[in-house]
Amino acid sequence: MGFTDTSKIQKVCVLGATGSIGLNTLDVIQRHPDRYSVHSLTAFNKYEELFDLCVRFQPEYAVLVDADAAEQLQSKCIKFGLPTKILAGSDSLDFVASHESVDVVMAAIVGAAGLQANLSAAREGKKILLANKESLVMSGELFMKEIEKSSSILLPIDSEHNAIFQCLPSAYRCGNKLSSDIRRVMLTASGGPFRAYTVEQISNVTVEQACNHPNWSMGQKISVDSASLMNKGLELIEACWLFDIAPEMIDVHVHPESIIHSMVEYQDGSVIAQMGNPDMRTPIAYGLGWPERIDSGVSSLDLFSIAKLSFEKPDRKVFPCLDLAQEAFKAGGTSCATLNAANELAVDAFLKGNIPFHRIPDIIGRVLSVAPNVSVSCIEDVMQADQSARRLAEEEISKYTSSAASLFL
Ligand code: NAD
Ligand code: MG
Repeated sequence: MGFTDTSKIQKVCVLGATGSIGLNTLDVIQRHPDRYSVHSLTAFNKYEELFDLCVRFQPEYAVLVDADAAEQLQSKCIKFGLPTKILAGSDSLDFVASHESVDVVMAAIVGAAGLQANLSAAREGKKILLANKESLVMSGELFMKEIEKSSSILLPIDSEHNAIFQCLPSAYRCGNKLSSDIRRVMLTASGGPFRAYTVEQISNVTVEQACNHPNWSMGQKISVDSASLMNKGLELIEACWLFDIAPEMIDVHVHPESIIHSMVEYQDGSVIAQMGNPDMRTPIAYGLGWPERIDSGVSSLDLFSIAKLSFEKPDRKVFPCLDLAQEAFKAGGTSCATLNAANELAVDAFLKGNIPFHRIPDIIGRVLSVAPNVSVSCIEDVMQADQSARRLAEEEISKYTSSAASLFL
């Protein structure tokens, strides 16, 4: 008894280890030393936080994209006699994500920065736990082709997509067409901190309000995306790629309690829902343990104290990002890469106080209307669209900032 078969321990690479999803992943991993060990941890530049994680998890590799920060981490590791090998630069993300010793990759970098490493993991046939929805939004077709080619197992970590996956037959694999007995997918949304706001109210919101999500504790970018409903737009695109469905099959339901994480409706009228407390450790544990179930540390759902579950339609006038995303998906080609890049820059400008919140959809809409939409045959097409959308978004943002005095009044 107490014997551990180390050959069965799965080695995990956590991309974006210092973030909200990364830390929740490590929390679940720590509960199961008999099942998982940490092979590699990555972050952008937070060397002190990454050092603490290296002490706790003793990974083989730690990667910091920022070279100066990597040097700091290196000297700390030498000083404290830590054996972890330190690497720098974004190529090192690819190196660890595709490393032959790695079984599972948690894709939890935020934004387009996660794309290349996720693709590397897909090419090497890793089991991929996908939190980084932006990579799928940018290059859904290419990414899903790589998954198919290498027979990677792709498991959605976004709570809604994880819920949909759980509501599908157990033999279902992401990328396959949904069976014809499925009528529709009901994608739930909390509505974010500005649910029920008017157009006037939304023009005066602060960064602090936007980042203060009523139910979920998340990184800054996704918090702002949730507040603008762009998160739901990105998730709609994500669902189309993961489950090979048309956007018309997806109905967004605003569900402020965030207890039902999404639903699938079948031909016979049955609706299967996945429920639970809003805690990302549930989908993370599901992804890590699949096809088994493992403890996540999440407390039991107390429906008596929740008492009521409510639903409403999204307000597409106050939150135009949802339609922008849907239209970009329908336009195809590089439109979704353009949408994603323009959104990343607009959100960043809002977080820095350079534009008001309600200008986010304006900027994305303008960039989409001027950026060329070309068909995608390789990843370079996507990267080019991403770069040119970033330039266009910068121009649009600078128009607002140069006339800020009049706009902010
Ligand atoms: P976060 O901001 O808390 O963490 C982001 C991580 O990415 C950090 O470790 C950071 O160091 C790293 N990073 C940032 N920029 C980088 C770059 N240029 N190169 C390499 N690494 C970089 O974000 P998060 O909330 O954990 O979200 C991560 C991803 O998961 C996002 O795509 C988000 O949409 C998705 N997601 C998050 C949640 C959630 O509850 N937080 C839920 C669903 C999906
Ligand atoms: Mg989500």
